Amino acid sequence: MPISTRTTIRRRLFDPHHFSYRPASPHLRPYTRLNLSKVHKPMPSEISDVQLASPERTEELRQSLAEIRACVTAASASSGSDLNYPKELVAVSKYKPSSDILVCYNEGQRDFGENYVQELVDKAKELPLEIQWHFIGTFQSNKAKLLAAIPNLHTVQTISSEKAATALNKALPTSRTTPLNVLIQINTSGEDAKSGLSSLSSLAPPPSTSLSDLHKLVKHIITGCPNLRLQGLMTIGSLDQSLSAKETEKNDDFERLKETSDVLRRWLQTEFEDHDGGRKWGEEGSGRLLLSMGMSSDFEAAIKAGSDIVRVGTGIFGSRNAKDEMNSTKS
Ligand SMILES: *Cc1c(COP(=O)(O)O)cnc(C)c1O
Repeated sequence: MPISTRTTIRRRLFDPHHFSYRPASPHLRPYTRLNLSKVHKPMPSEISDVQLASPERTEELRQSLAEIRACVTAASASSGSDLNYPKELVAVSKYKPSSDILVCYNEGQRDFGENYVQELVDKAKELPLEIQWHFIGTFQSNKAKLLAAIPNLHTVQTISSEKAATALNKALPTSRTTPLNVLIQINTSGEDAKSGLSSLSSLAPPPSTSLSDLHKLVKHIITGCPNLRLQGLMTIGSLDQSLSAKETEKNDDFERLKETSDVLRRWLQTEFEDHDGGRKWGEEGSGRLLLSMGMSSDFEAAIKAGSDIVRVGTGIFGSRNAKDEMNSTKS
């Protein structure tokens, strides 16, 4: 008998036969970085209906997710990167329905990226708390409260001003027991249309009296935003680079992000020696700054260039409706 396509997420979550992955249960293992006893945990009866994807759509998504994962693994292996630190695949689900997200969730995908605050708020409400949400859209300080109230918000990848960092730091509820990860967005291509701070060059002398905006922001987050954890840097990069790098195998934007992070890290080590780098910034333990670069068209090249976090939308969910993209500049 075909399952009705409109059934509740509750049924879906509690019926183990619907799963190929670890089933969620009413005793969901709480997301380890949050103290769920203090945040609002929806009771099963409160979990709203999520329209289920059709069997065809489900199959399609399973396949594309599996393919992208295989490509990520292959690129990591051939990049000679430390396999102790697996690459993080963020499935970019903007404009895609919660039903699509749920299919990927059921395949074990946990990290999802969204660009628009209200869309993220709505989806987070009706989807499992075990999801780790990444905000990757343009950050506006007046939306900090809405964003910060999402208990399973995992990372904001697009911080590029002290004002933004301050607003986010202030907006985080006390129920959060661990800092929110943030990445600083770098405009590696220098295009006017892209946000982000300027990259740093290893040829430039280390800053003495006048710090660059990036140095200032890093310092501000580390010393003035105890609720944030500076995890690394993010870039979008230019389309030109993404296309030409396919042939020449070198993407200037990726190289610039990597160089920026090397320069910053050396500065952090000398400037904040007394802070425990392994705790204050970067990857837990090593203090290495993580790089978020690479999208559907170039995530393999990005991994080979040293990316830690790739953000893949189209490659998993298929193309987005261009009209939706045009209409939804409000976030
Ligand atoms: C939409 C978006 C992506 C995903 O792009 P695809 O080309 O669909 O993979 C990645 N990063 C950011 C910042 C985005 O806005």
